[in-house]
Amino acid sequence: MPSKTRRISEFELIARYFAPLAREAAGALDLKDDAAWIESRADAQWVVTSDVLVEGVHFLPDDPAELIARKSLRVNLSDLAAKGAAAKAYLLDLVLPATHDEPWIADFVRGLAKDQVEFGVSLIGGDTASTPGPLTIAVTALGQVPTGEMLVRSRAAADDDIYVSGTIGDAALGLVVLRGGLNRLGAAAQSYLVGRYRLPEPRTVLGPKLVGIANAAMDVSDGLVADLGHICATSGLGAVIEEDLVPISPAAATALREHPALITAVLTGGDDYEILFTAPGTMASTILKLAQTLNVPLARIGRMRPGAGVEVVKADGSGREIDTPGWQHF
Ligand code: ADP
Ligand code: MG
Repeated sequence: MPSKTRRISEFELIARYFAPLAREAAGALDLKDDAAWIESRADAQWVVTSDVLVEGVHFLPDDPAELIARKSLRVNLSDLAAKGAAAKAYLLDLVLPATHDEPWIADFVRGLAKDQVEFGVSLIGGDTASTPGPLTIAVTALGQVPTGEMLVRSRAAADDDIYVSGTIGDAALGLVVLRGGLNRLGAAAQSYLVGRYRLPEPRTVLGPKLVGIANAAMDVSDGLVADLGHICATSGLGAVIEEDLVPISPAAATALREHPALITAVLTGGDDYEILFTAPGTMASTILKLAQTLNVPLARIGRMRPGAGVEVVKADGSGREIDTPGWQHF
């Protein structure tokens, strides 16, 4: 589509800023063609996912361009990782308001370039358009899994152990900080939590290693309880989480000591971008070893069971009522 209002033409924009991001991908043809080709492999399947980020909905208008770029890519890499796929390439659709001019785009591209190196992916195409509306970014990411091995939500088994990577609730508490809360928390803890909200760390190393180990998996973006609810619903099962087993960062633990009621935000808040998965009990030692080898914390937080819905129990055996669609009180 021809550009109408940009000072820099769409053609120049692609040649100057996007083509360098596609240099490593032979099939992207330097972004000088209508489409890109990608190499297929006999023993692998492509896994494809897409996420749209809208200014004012998924990020704030004055968030740095570099951070917006990296978040747009990373939320997709997190989806691929949760499916056991190794990320390879991505497409970028940019819908730009006139306020986002060349310096903004240069910063945005710098963010993408950093993450391409960090995660080993290449831009292979996309589209660019102008809009009178808010900045809108869509990324479509492509990854590969061994044929037939993509991890799905629906194959949890009754009695499976439930695991989660990293720590839960940091991003939700980071948002509390950004809204002016938790102001008695130390500066280092505050900035740790805000950082976890601003820039997800997709579990790209862990994900592909869960193939052959996990029965069901997904990434935690809507909140631990709601997302486990999705595994329950698609697998036709229920789940029980032990609240004390849910891994909490030191910063989040400090925040919770001050404000115990924030446990609800931790368990339901979202934006964690950790991997939630279930596995049979026979995999326990393999999972322990994997955590050590990869240096990725993996915590067992509960168990699948017949029935429906997610129950959260405390050490004293009492249930915790959590107001979220994925949760049911027993
Ligand atoms: P069309 O007219 O078919 O929409 P374009 O001129 O938009 O083609 O695109 C030309 C080339 O530039 C294509 O290879 C396309 O994938 C690439 N491209 C356009 N916009 C972007 C973008 N935002 N990011 C990456 N590649 C892009
Ligand atoms: Mg186009």
